[in-house]
Amino acid sequence: MVALEARILAKNDAGAAKNRAWLAGREILALNLVSSPGAGKTTLLERTIKDLKDEVPLFVLEGDQATANDGERIRAAGAPAVQVNTGTGCHLEADMVARGLSQLRPSAGSVVMIENVGNLVCPAMFDLGERAKVVILSVTEGEDKPLKYPHMFRAAEIMVLNKTDLLPHVDFDVDRAIANAREVNPDIAVLRLSARTGEGLDSWYGWLREQRTAAARAAMQI
Ligand code: MG
Ligand code: ZN
Repeated sequence: MVALEARILAKNDAGAAKNRAWLAGREILALNLVSSPGAGKTTLLERTIKDLKDEVPLFVLEGDQATANDGERIRAAGAPAVQVNTGTGCHLEADMVARGLSQLRPSAGSVVMIENVGNLVCPAMFDLGERAKVVILSVTEGEDKPLKYPHMFRAAEIMVLNKTDLLPHVDFDVDRAIANAREVNPDIAVLRLSARTGEGLDSWYGWLREQRTAAARAAMQI
């Protein structure tokens, strides 16, 4: 079992390296969005597309076990999207992303958002060739999730605390959640926002701009 898992991950890592080179060759920033189901990944993407579409060409790969619902929401918001259905699979793998990218055809210098299947467990182990994993935690969840799912919070560059507009109605300790995330990953960046009301989105857009600049600089060095 362990040997099989190691073989699957090694094959995935090789595919991820190919994706990374392909993306760098086109100066594309790719981000891997991960969370539990319902944390607000698609809503954050819809809002980001609406707010940034005149500034940044955005393309989306939508991972779900079934349905084309989220891909349709993204297209309605104004960005090209390809839906990847994993069937019984509970995470995206690098070869699915490679196939998705060849269908999506993102333009040079664009941003590709990869919305992973809602799951805080195995997406942590599967590199897709992204520049960074963005983990989204909503305030309707428990603030102990970083401790329960440490691999994911360790693998992420940034934690987005979403649905902050609901804070007055829930027992969610923001400071505790941040302390828990930093306990497993002292370097993790943290943003608080509400994709629904728009509060805090400026700092998310600022982070995206920094990542774009860094991705372009890294691509020039290859
Ligand atoms: Mg979704
Ligand atoms: Zn899985």
